[in-house]
Amino acid sequence: MNRISNQFPTTDLQEADAAHHLHPFSDHESLNREKSRVIVRGEGVFLWDSDGNRIMDGMAGLWCVNIGHGRREIADAVHEQMLQLSYYNTFFKTTHPPVVALAQKLAELAPDGFNRVFFTGSGSEANDTVLRMVRHYWTTMGQPQKHIIIGRKNGYHGSTLAGASLGGMSGMHAQGGMAEGIRHIRQPYWFDEGEDLSPDAFGLVCAKALEIEIELVGADKIAAFIAEPMQGAGGVIIPPETYWPEINRICKAHNILLVADEVICGFGRTGNWWGSETFGIEPDLMPIAKGLSSGYLPIGGVLVNDSVGDVITSGGGEFYHGFTYSGHPAACAAALKNLEILQSERIVERVRDDIGPYMQAKWAALGEHPLVGEARMVGLVGALELVPEKPSRKRFENEGTIGGICRDHSFKNGLIMRAVRDSMIISPPLTITKDEADMLIALVEKTLDDTAHSLRKSGHLSA
Ligand SMILES: *Cc1c(COP(=O)(O)O)cnc(C)c1O
Repeated sequence: MNRISNQFPTTDLQEADAAHHLHPFSDHESLNREKSRVIVRGEGVFLWDSDGNRIMDGMAGLWCVNIGHGRREIADAVHEQMLQLSYYNTFFKTTHPPVVALAQKLAELAPDGFNRVFFTGSGSEANDTVLRMVRHYWTTMGQPQKHIIIGRKNGYHGSTLAGASLGGMSGMHAQGGMAEGIRHIRQPYWFDEGEDLSPDAFGLVCAKALEIEIELVGADKIAAFIAEPMQGAGGVIIPPETYWPEINRICKAHNILLVADEVICGFGRTGNWWGSETFGIEPDLMPIAKGLSSGYLPIGGVLVNDSVGDVITSGGGEFYHGFTYSGHPAACAAALKNLEILQSERIVERVRDDIGPYMQAKWAALGEHPLVGEARMVGLVGALELVPEKPSRKRFENEGTIGGICRDHSFKNGLIMRAVRDSMIISPPLTITKDEADMLIALVEKTLDDTAHSLRKSGHLSA
């Protein structure tokens, strides 16, 4: 079991990494002081580091390894495809069997009325495609002035210029600027911003913010509204039930395309194939990535409903857009096998009816812990809000410090949780067993206790 594929000393790898590798979203000064963790193997919900330590992957990689690590069927499918046709493009009147099969499969799995897909290499590229496609759509419709796109503060849509601009992360906007014609409205984050409103009343206020923005800018200038069904990177922010129905209504009333970024929510994460099903969203476009291949190979795309797709495919002329790796054969083979596994093992149904409710009940009980102001979970994605004095929703000073301490304890205890400010995030592989779920919950409990202990010692928390 403890087979380690790494034959290099950990310190050699860390030194070479520090010398030559620029990491995503990293402060290299502190990274190179602390050294990177070297992960060498994955199987199911577990990872192993270069020193042989087993760690439970509570984040499914980066919210993507829905079927768990190390499935041989995917490796075999990719191997076969690479021997058959390792690469060819889908430009210039060509196609190939795996891209056709995947497009057809996605049309079958997507909500009614979604029959077409544009492939990309990632979620960020999917959102770049969204930006260009919605503007191309309105130009084709004879309304080129409809070009503004509204996103949300603290939304995440990727890290390319369009992705970062559509997203609402101010730190990202400050580095390298923004694409033009993008605006942001407030997020439906009741725990932090709901004040004394009920969640339902707050949901309506946040949806109304879209209508106010539309009236300010003019519906005749707005192409689309983009949002994640549930904000992931922003902190697993599950919107109040009133939010999405009102957003649907506003987009339709003002003739604005609705884009549901399904990059995290898609492929079972919230207990249905689509976050849009879970939250009752009626989108026109759905960017996808992550769970599409369970992260085994890079692939993303944009699912397009017929009202947009019919226009793009007749009367729009050539859409000057595409990527060398759009519909890469090996990535399509990985995605196809991943979807086959999700279907044949009934993994999405299991999240909805069995392991999802099982985990949610145990997760909710963590809300009793003195450090936890709220415990929320939908499907198999959840958050714990750490606060100094419940039931007040007031935050710790120096936001993010306590989350970082908690995350370090979690790692030490053998569980990967992510800290977003002072929210602890979990998004495990959807294949997690009940025993593993029990283990995960026990590790979170221990981590919360260890964190409270550290905070008492450091004076952040009164005894
Ligand atoms: C991760 C993510 C993206 C970006 O995907 P990449 O593959 O990292 O480019 C876009 N949207 C959402 C909602 C995401 O979580």
